[in-house]
Amino acid sequence: MPARNILVINCGSSSLKFALVNESQDTFPLQGLAERLGSPEAVVQWQIGDTKETRQIPNGAHREALEAILPLAQEVAGGQLDGIGHRVVHGGEDFTASCLIDDAVLEGIRANAQLAPLHNPANLIGIEAAMALFPGLPQVVVFDTAFHQAMPDYAYRYAVPEFLYKEHAVRRYGFHGTSHRFVSKRAAEMLQLPVDDSCWLVAHLGNGCSTCAVVNGESRDTSMGLTPLEGLVMGTRSGDVDPALHIHLTRTLGWTIEQVDNMLTRESGLKGLSGLSNDMRTLHEALESGHAGATLAFEVFCYRLAKSLAGMACALPQVNGLVFTGGIGENSAAVRARTIEHLKVFNFAVDAEANARCTRGVAGQIQAEGSPRILVVPTNEERQIALDTLELLD
Ligand code: AMP
Repeated sequence: MPARNILVINCGSSSLKFALVNESQDTFPLQGLAERLGSPEAVVQWQIGDTKETRQIPNGAHREALEAILPLAQEVAGGQLDGIGHRVVHGGEDFTASCLIDDAVLEGIRANAQLAPLHNPANLIGIEAAMALFPGLPQVVVFDTAFHQAMPDYAYRYAVPEFLYKEHAVRRYGFHGTSHRFVSKRAAEMLQLPVDDSCWLVAHLGNGCSTCAVVNGESRDTSMGLTPLEGLVMGTRSGDVDPALHIHLTRTLGWTIEQVDNMLTRESGLKGLSGLSNDMRTLHEALESGHAGATLAFEVFCYRLAKSLAGMACALPQVNGLVFTGGIGENSAAVRARTIEHLKVFNFAVDAEANARCTRGVAGQIQAEGSPRILVVPTNEERQIALDTLELLD
């Protein structure tokens, strides 16, 4: 049987990321991004090998973007496209694994839209456009939340009245599940351990950041909660604050819910603390010239990350390794080193040379002698979505 090809689609409200994944190739034969969908500046950009191309699709929406992408994907796949995998943010308690799309699944994604009002409707637009354009192709959905459905109730329940959980689905769900699942499996392969008999602390550090405790291939706890705002300091998100903060701001400054929401999601995190940028690269440069805000943002980021990892350790019977991934986790030796300094109590220590070597997609072990294992593992959510799709096709 020739190697199969899966088109992976990640739809936002005005953007669509895509990648063609071939099961026997390490790199994507085609990948790209459609942006500013629905506006006169709508555009699709893609890359095949080293060749980059752009096509304007004025006022084009998701369907027009997919109409431009399909012939490309078919051509690059040599006419053999085997399926489509869609990323969906929220599966609520209805979805504990990836699944083939049918009417009941579409209804389930719609039913969970109240938990992710910005994301699920956008994901649905992409799915419906793809189904209309490629009716003969099997299509699969992969949920960010599904991996965390294995968490025990004492990890996912908030200490608030029960009816909020029973009647209004208020609980911790967790996100980045596809990434946590992918990198913990890769870490087990790298150390030649069975996935179903290994325990990991994982730090996914990108624009959004979360930690996860993975036991025998299942999530036992994670730092994000009902929404992706809970937990770590992120690019522009605050992570944990006193839950009474918004009451305080309402009482003292007269802020509305929208103002509080905007401040916590878009004006906080590294950006809010540094007063400079949400981008860790910019903060590293500013740190070198002694920028006080950048220094504070870096220190708070690393300390809060270490504190979260120490908390996640409660969910593990043992630690086979600590895994760093995501744009910051895969590239910032400084963040890894500083975070590990706060985890001395677990005997974690980094080897400076190995730490410096693991950047720009280089995977490896970075622990010093005598320390539990510390791994840098590049994440690849597109490949995990393609793997899930292939498994369901089988
Ligand atoms: P992601 O969302 O996974 O693409 O990650 C985005 C984050 O990774 C941003 O905060 C970037 O600043 C950060 N990042 C990317 N490259 C580097 C680098 N070389 N050093 C530090 N941070 C980086």
